[in-house]
Amino acid sequence: MELLDPPIPEAVPTRHKTRQARVAWGSHVVTVGGDAPVRVQSMTNTDTADAIATAIQVKELAAAGSELVRITVDTPEAAAAVPAIREQLDRMGVSVPLIGDFHYNGHRLLTDFPQCAQALSKYRINPGNVGKGEKRDRQFGQMIDMALRYDKPVRIGVNWGSLDQDLLASLMDANARRTQPYDARQIMAQALVLSALDSAQRAQELGMDPAQILLSCKVSNVQDLVTVYRALAARCDYALHLGLTEAGMGTKGAVASTAALAVLLQEGIGDTIRVSLTPEPNAPRSQEVVVALEILQALGLRAFTPSVTACPGCGRTTSTFFQELTQSIDTFLRAQMPVWRSRYPGVEQMRVAVMGCIVNGPGESKHADIGISLPGTGEAPAAPVFIDGEKRMTLRGDAIAAEFQSIVETYVQQRYGATQRHLDQVA
Ligand code: SF4
Repeated sequence: MELLDPPIPEAVPTRHKTRQARVAWGSHVVTVGGDAPVRVQSMTNTDTADAIATAIQVKELAAAGSELVRITVDTPEAAAAVPAIREQLDRMGVSVPLIGDFHYNGHRLLTDFPQCAQALSKYRINPGNVGKGEKRDRQFGQMIDMALRYDKPVRIGVNWGSLDQDLLASLMDANARRTQPYDARQIMAQALVLSALDSAQRAQELGMDPAQILLSCKVSNVQDLVTVYRALAARCDYALHLGLTEAGMGTKGAVASTAALAVLLQEGIGDTIRVSLTPEPNAPRSQEVVVALEILQALGLRAFTPSVTACPGCGRTTSTFFQELTQSIDTFLRAQMPVWRSRYPGVEQMRVAVMGCIVNGPGESKHADIGISLPGTGEAPAAPVFIDGEKRMTLRGDAIAAEFQSIVETYVQQRYGATQRHLDQVA
């Protein structure tokens, strides 16, 4: 058979060019935009006035992989608690930058609680919720003044649920005068984009460095989000925070967020992401971080944890053993990462395959760094293990899971420990 010429082009996301912002706490700097990797954000759902509960949740989110954590600052009590949250995190050795989420009274809280303004690393300003008419400009200006005084970046975060109603009304009026008016969704998209861009322009006029301005325009519909962010990216070079707002609960929220973010990230749009999952009762808040990490890793934009490739199973694998092995190896890998990350550089790129039968098992296992092909129904009770594309051994009996885990651990030590030894020698 002849080779295709020209060859099939690879799907490679090219990054939309944005300015790089610095979100810092002390010497810990998280760069956002430019050539920085796409960052993961999350948001607490504790009462910020409860400093201990909030600090504990921030720590959980950071431990899960959130590089920036946003907290609600909605009352004087919440603003007063922010420095205590920051101190508690510092005592726990958690340097993740905190972002203050302000609506309605942010100008007052930042002015009345300067220690809060200082302890935060970024302010989120919603232009739809800073006041009306003359007050709007003054209050927006007060927030920008505080950002300038404390040298903090701001995110101008527009949300379709709290869109500037005056701006929307004026666009509706202009649309009504057209001989062929646009539909209402088009006007909504324009209002979102113009609200963000207009506010960013005013922030710049007040003295903000454009590199310290980030924008977001969140909606809850996947196609609308794609429409709005494409328009936004085409019109500015501010770093963009990306997220599907009110994504929902469980599978629905995860899938909707993934669908929207994947399209945009593949087009190079988005410098930070947040997955706005409604937590299931008693589920950890950090679930939203796990989904965000998985999105970036699945797209090949970043690597956080070794990935486990597993087949879905079918009529050829009627026992639950292969599901249990997949789960146990996945849990094992995630549990090791806090230690492995620093001890074995590059381990997050490792690919592990756990396959259910001979049909695709050996092939998929050979493509992985390390893989196991379990016996399907009616096959000989033997599980060949493939390492770096070669069949190295065959496991049998009741201890396959423990033995495979041990083989993976040895492989990691030998392959990625060597990287660390090399780095040590070079240092
Ligand atoms: S590898 Fe085997 S068990 Fe897994 S889905 Fe394919 S045919 Fe079914």
